[in-house]
Amino acid sequence: MNFRVISQGICLIFFLYLLFQAAFPLSSFFPADTFLRLDPLISLGTMISSRAWIWSLFPGFIILGLTLILGRFFCGYVCPMGTTIDLSDRLFKIRSGSKRLKNEQRASLLKLKFYVLFFILGAGILSISWVFSAAPLSLITRLYGLIIYPVLIFVTDIFLDLTMPFSMMLGLDFLTYAEPQVLRFATQWFIAAFFGSVMLLVYFSPRFWCRYLCPSGAMMALLGRKPLIRRHVSSECTHCGMCEKKCPMNAIQNDPFQTVYQECIVCQTCVRVCPEQAVNFKPGWKSDIIADRDFIPSRRRVIAAAAVGAGSAIIAHTGIAAVKNDLVPGNIMPHSLIRPPGAVLERDFQSRCVRCGLCMKACPTNTLQPVWLEAGLDGIFSPKMLPRRGPCEVMCNVCGHVCPTGAIRALSLEEKMWARVGTSYVIPYKCLAWEWDRECLVCYEVCPYAAIELKRVDSRSVPVPYVLPNKCSGCGACEYHCPVQAGSAIIVEPMEALRMNTGSYIETGRAIGMDLEADPDRQRRPPDYLFDPQGPGDLPPGFSF
Ligand code: SF4
Ligand code: SF4
Repeated sequence: MNFRVISQGICLIFFLYLLFQAAFPLSSFFPADTFLRLDPLISLGTMISSRAWIWSLFPGFIILGLTLILGRFFCGYVCPMGTTIDLSDRLFKIRSGSKRLKNEQRASLLKLKFYVLFFILGAGILSISWVFSAAPLSLITRLYGLIIYPVLIFVTDIFLDLTMPFSMMLGLDFLTYAEPQVLRFATQWFIAAFFGSVMLLVYFSPRFWCRYLCPSGAMMALLGRKPLIRRHVSSECTHCGMCEKKCPMNAIQNDPFQTVYQECIVCQTCVRVCPEQAVNFKPGWKSDIIADRDFIPSRRRVIAAAAVGAGSAIIAHTGIAAVKNDLVPGNIMPHSLIRPPGAVLERDFQSRCVRCGLCMKACPTNTLQPVWLEAGLDGIFSPKMLPRRGPCEVMCNVCGHVCPTGAIRALSLEEKMWARVGTSYVIPYKCLAWEWDRECLVCYEVCPYAAIELKRVDSRSVPVPYVLPNKCSGCGACEYHCPVQAGSAIIVEPMEALRMNTGSYIETGRAIGMDLEADPDRQRRPPDYLFDPQGPGDLPPGFSF
């Protein structure tokens, strides 16, 4: 096993470990988003679209700096997307150098990744971020976090069920009672289909994605055209063609002495396969060892790609794409779009969020779900809260702490409590108490902030719920637990959501009259007088009009 494969294996295992650790409570020594911070496109693209210097994304620039010296080493040794694609190449038994594409086809396809890159940067200049659509670390985190991880947990759960009789027989109590939390996410079929296609593209060429489509690879290709550590071929070369045939990136074309460095991922396959041991990598500055032909598109085409990206941003800004999604003036946010607590202002949120899905993977109640099209095409895959699936836990602030870009602020537990995501309200015609005159206290009992008040009204023989808006954080416990079937009778909407890019939520919340306090007595019982049909309405005993 060579050094590259070992490095790839270690990086993939570390990446998966960090992804697994992105859970409540956070325990990893390394930040769960370490790999996302290394992706140069996430760093540059997000900073351009959000017009902010984001310190946590600085490592992406270190990778770019190292590319100047080492070439595209990141693709060959680190990137989990590249490693996953290599694994799928092996699965589909695609051999290096397989020639399903003709030379001319390959030459024009090699320029595609630059168009993707400049399309994204062009849109970013106008504050629309398409980074999520092609940044490899965003894509691969989404694949493992939102598809593969839930599938593995599901399979484990079934396995534990099937083996329960044996576990009991063997006295393995920890297995008998183990109940892994099975996460479920919307949009998973689309994500699976996307990756299925990426993996199937290896039919045309190994590492198809990396060669032809990856915009991060394109950035590194631009900077790695004349690396300091270069491939050298000595005079022992007999022109046998083995290096050209085996190079997984087609970085050696026709002449074994020349290297297309923009494509070379420093995998050193050519070193290993050379029967004369004529190839090595060492520092060098001579230009004659660089291929006379590279595949950088013309300036005109690059500008055209950026202009198309900017055009897509203009369409997104003017709302043309959102006509079908109700995003009309006065109703900028769809009522179902409840962002996680600590999410910055919506426009900045969209330009910062790279849709990696780490917050969704880490959310212990599974309330964070990927958005489909309700926020327009540019909002796809960003996280929203779905309280009917789970409430936002009072004791959890994990989403902000795993977010690589600061789209969700990393807040203390107390600050997060004041980061109101919306306000709940009762739908009287569905409520058991209001509509059916039936005794029901569930929302009152489960609200962790005591934001529900029960009152007696003349028209009902049972107490009915009212929401106290200044005490409601929008956590969704009421919506989640409401026993009404097919949609709760009390729902959270993003109205009155407190979203700030900087500053204290507690101070701002107090200043606008919020009165949040986590109720230690979560399973409250209402006072008995409320249930006394002869009782004095909504006034406490001893009081009268
Ligand atoms: S080309 Fe892109 S996906 Fe492939 S290894 Fe490089 S960064 Fe990763
Ligand atoms: S908000 Fe969630 S999906 Fe978006 S960048 Fe942050 S962690 Fe990733």
